[in-house]
Amino acid sequence: MGADRDNKTPIQHSRPFLGEKEAEAVARVIRSGHIAQGKEVNRFEGRFAEYLGVSHAVGASSGTAALHLTLLAMDIGPGDEVIIPTYVCTALLNAVLYVRAEPVLADVCRETGNIDPEDVKKRITARTKAVVVPHMFGLPVKMAPFLDLGLPIIEDCAQSIGSTDEGRLTGTFGIASIFSFYATKVITTGEGGMVVTGSRKIASAVRELREYDKQKDYKVRHNYKMTDMQAAMGMVQLDRLPALIRKRRAIASEFFRRFKGLSVNLPSKNPGHIYYRFVVDISGVKRKAFSEEMRARGVLCERPVSRPIHRYLNIDGYPHAESAWKRLVSVPLYPALSEVEIGIIVHAVKTASFFKETAS
Ligand SMILES: *Cc1c(COP(=O)(O)O)cnc(C)c1O
Repeated sequence: MGADRDNKTPIQHSRPFLGEKEAEAVARVIRSGHIAQGKEVNRFEGRFAEYLGVSHAVGASSGTAALHLTLLAMDIGPGDEVIIPTYVCTALLNAVLYVRAEPVLADVCRETGNIDPEDVKKRITARTKAVVVPHMFGLPVKMAPFLDLGLPIIEDCAQSIGSTDEGRLTGTFGIASIFSFYATKVITTGEGGMVVTGSRKIASAVRELREYDKQKDYKVRHNYKMTDMQAAMGMVQLDRLPALIRKRRAIASEFFRRFKGLSVNLPSKNPGHIYYRFVVDISGVKRKAFSEEMRARGVLCERPVSRPIHRYLNIDGYPHAESAWKRLVSVPLYPALSEVEIGIIVHAVKTASFFKETAS
């Protein structure tokens, strides 16, 4: 469901897919009079665990909160190191710093923009307590090399719910996995997150730490709970998920078909990809000029990662992340796009002055 288009408003880079069912679900919770964490959250957690086929799912107020709680539940703290990729949003850096552990940045694979297991290996020390593996843009990371590291792996599925590696859902490989339901993620509750794990110990620690009230003892805890309004909306979105992914894949195949022969590198084709982002490699073309030309044609393109972490922290040694940051641009792809909008996007990319049609 999208707002009606006028010709002046550009096509947003991203928009949630929302309908009357979400509105009804939230209204039903409001009418019930019980709006904070309660039985809707319990039901959503149950449904989420069932969808992934894992034993435990625990709701949280955001993806960042979910990762923070996971690190705490794993007893990670001062003196410990956590490896995260540099080509990712700063949420990961924040969560590691919240627990006062040391973030260790790893480079990414040139072709995919996903964390590189070979680079991770070089950065492991006796103090490494976990590796966070985000499946960026909905493209599943090949998990085998990470599972072979012999370290606890936390999957970050904020962009990858429903994607699969070797036929298995992302979020089911690690010791724990986190999800985000921010407004523009694959499914949304406005803000929200989830921790998923097969470990009863981690699940119960996360449950306990997200809530400060009615505890038997005192220690520093958090208020990271999800509301029943969010959970009711999340269940409607989870019901929609298969259709949302089908739609993403259908738009992606249309883009692949229509962009064939353009002098631009298209995303990795992978049957497990859900195309949370359609990321193209415009190497040789100035990214800013490209985005400006697309904007003039009514299409808002963005960097898929606004700035890699090593740039914020002023550290060198991440050539592939550096190059991804310069080369990669995300073209709007989301289920709320209308056919007319898809046509406008295709036309804008195909006729961009930067790309030559190569014989194909
Ligand atoms: C969005 C996102 C997060 C953070 O989730 P929030 O719900 O915004 O806190 C973490 N990791 C990745 C890869 C994300 O895309």
